[in-house]
Amino acid sequence: MKIRFWGVRGSIPAPGPDTIAYGGNTSCVSIHTASGKLVIVDMGTGLMHLGNHLMAGAFGKGQGRAAILLSHTHWDHIQGLGFFAPVFIPGNHFTVFGPGGSPNVLEEILEGQMDPNFSPLQTLKNFAAIFDVKAATTAFEAEDLRVSAYEHVHGTTTALAFRIEEAGKVFVYASDVGQPVADAPPDPGLVALARGADVLLHDTTYRPSDQATRRNRGFSTYEDAAAMAVAAQARRLVMFHYDQDYSDADVDSLRDACRASLDTLGGQDIGLEAAREGDELEI
Ligand SMILES: [Zn+2]
Repeated sequence: MKIRFWGVRGSIPAPGPDTIAYGGNTSCVSIHTASGKLVIVDMGTGLMHLGNHLMAGAFGKGQGRAAILLSHTHWDHIQGLGFFAPVFIPGNHFTVFGPGGSPNVLEEILEGQMDPNFSPLQTLKNFAAIFDVKAATTAFEAEDLRVSAYEHVHGTTTALAFRIEEAGKVFVYASDVGQPVADAPPDPGLVALARGADVLLHDTTYRPSDQATRRNRGFSTYEDAAAMAVAAQARRLVMFHYDQDYSDADVDSLRDACRASLDTLGGQDIGLEAAREGDELEI
């Protein structure tokens, strides 16, 4: 499968001269499977750029279909939806698998961001494509892929992490992972989900000093991500969801610090990269 990053920033878009290298768009990742299927994870502002890219192919002709896995409904994971061009083309088909256990509640939340007080789009009913909303369960099929989901702590709320498997290859998406107390060990449920992943994408939102003053927001440091990668025996760790105030130079320093954390924790063999908008990984 081919994994491409369309938005790697956390919390709010942060375009500008200091974020050109890694990008300023919020969370969105595409997975093109070996069998030619498309799975999208999260609908931050990066989704707009993915949509414009897809319009050159089957989605521009109303012949596209994709599954969208939604970790949670904070702004930086849903704001791209109203500007995702393929949803305005009749014939395209999207199935969203999201949190909350109730497709009706999830659809109401997504509808809420289209409210005319917040958006010119007014309502999901303006979408021309088929847009099915489903509640993710602990195991389900999305575009013929086996997906497992785990609900982890994200500050005072929760988010879903996803394990996506194809032909023995495993990609795990775990963003916005934030334990409520300092120095907590990796969440055993998330360790189990990420076990043996070829690629573990994990948020590295903060350096430790910033997490200490914003713990209630529910995000990880590079140390938390490194500890998870080691505990889960992942092959590669991908850093993701950088704080909106971090410059490219800051992210470079986070990557160096994360490498040191992995090495200290016994993860010398774990590959490391910092997700960058436009980059693609193949596993
Ligand atoms: Zn987020």
